[in-house]
Amino acid sequence: MQIPPFSLDEQISEIGDEIEKVLIKVFRSGKYIGGEEVASFEKAFALAIETSYSVSCNSGTDALILALRSLNIGEGDEVITSSFSFFATAEAITSVGARPVFVDIDPENYLMDLDLIEKVITPRTKAILPVHLFGQPIDMDKIMAIAEVNNLKVVEDCAQAAGANWRGKPVGSYGDVGCFSFFPTKNLGAAGDGGAITTNNLELAKTIRELAVHGMPKRYFHTSIGYNSRLDSLQAAILNVKLTRLNKWIERRKAIAINYISQLSSIESIELPSNNLSNNSFHSWNQFVIRIMDNSFVKNIKSTSENVFDNTNRDLFKNELHRLGVNTIIYYPIPIHLQPAYRELGYTEGSLPITEKVCSQVISLPIFPELESIQQSYVIDKIKELFKN
Ligand SMILES: *Cc1c(COP(=O)(O)O)cnc(C)c1O
Repeated sequence: MQIPPFSLDEQISEIGDEIEKVLIKVFRSGKYIGGEEVASFEKAFALAIETSYSVSCNSGTDALILALRSLNIGEGDEVITSSFSFFATAEAITSVGARPVFVDIDPENYLMDLDLIEKVITPRTKAILPVHLFGQPIDMDKIMAIAEVNNLKVVEDCAQAAGANWRGKPVGSYGDVGCFSFFPTKNLGAAGDGGAITTNNLELAKTIRELAVHGMPKRYFHTSIGYNSRLDSLQAAILNVKLTRLNKWIERRKAIAINYISQLSSIESIELPSNNLSNNSFHSWNQFVIRIMDNSFVKNIKSTSENVFDNTNRDLFKNELHRLGVNTIIYYPIPIHLQPAYRELGYTEGSLPITEKVCSQVISLPIFPELESIQQSYVIDKIKELFKN
């Protein structure tokens, strides 16, 4: 058996006909920018995230950039965030001229360590940019409390967390702005790039809408230097169909996660993402990430010849799973603060010890709504075989 880490094949079979119909309708209309589909998606998405406004844009990266720009964050400002994220989180901060300041993560949930945030606040700090990594909501009550006491803005990176909530309220509805990505592998994925911001603040929504269209509040009248960052009508049409299924798909992901957790919990050498699943958080399970804590599986590896160059237990484990037909992905092998592009920020190995350790241990198991029971069992059996005594 071959298990892919992620697949859209089944989803395409399920909703392909419906999507083809709306795509043809948009195509034949000849109106590809804005229009009905974009307007109705923004309305539906704001409703789903329980905010007053939603503005669509070209990508999750652009959503972050537009959010920071709308809050006047730029040259000389600092934004506190996590180094354990996709590169775009920090890249957006740098793109607007500000400086990302990283805090280490909580090893229990891989999210920003809430006790470390106030330690890095300086007079230049303007905002906190928490990431709901892998779909797990960070404690937004604590983030908002820290922000309020220190007079900081909050931009939520919800790229992996559409449909997740903290204490029953969707992520993206707590901060000044929530930022979402519709990259195809996210829980709500377009057939290409797409993104959206959510906010309850009318002024911010207006500013973001203008910035996303060349800083142009009226046709050919430009009040700021903006971007060309729109969601295509074709993508909006697809997202309108998919949004109605989002919660159902997340429920299926959750069932898979619960199965993995219950079946793998007997393996001491694996750290499961269950430690900090408080009753307050509803995880969207964009990724199911485990940590390989030791090398006790090595004795069960059949062929080691191809593995001699690997330097971590995790990489050995990944190779062996691949050999057995279970294909996995590493989110993320190198933390942002150690990326060559960020050398000038001055972080070195050891700057964020927990982030660095976790990056060397994590591996994401196959998870997508249509992953069948027998496929889940296959993944579980192969892992159990590797760790048997
Ligand atoms: C995917 C992702 C982004 C960027 O989204 P794009 O749509 O690919 O630009 C930002 N932050 C996180 C955490 C992501 O996973």
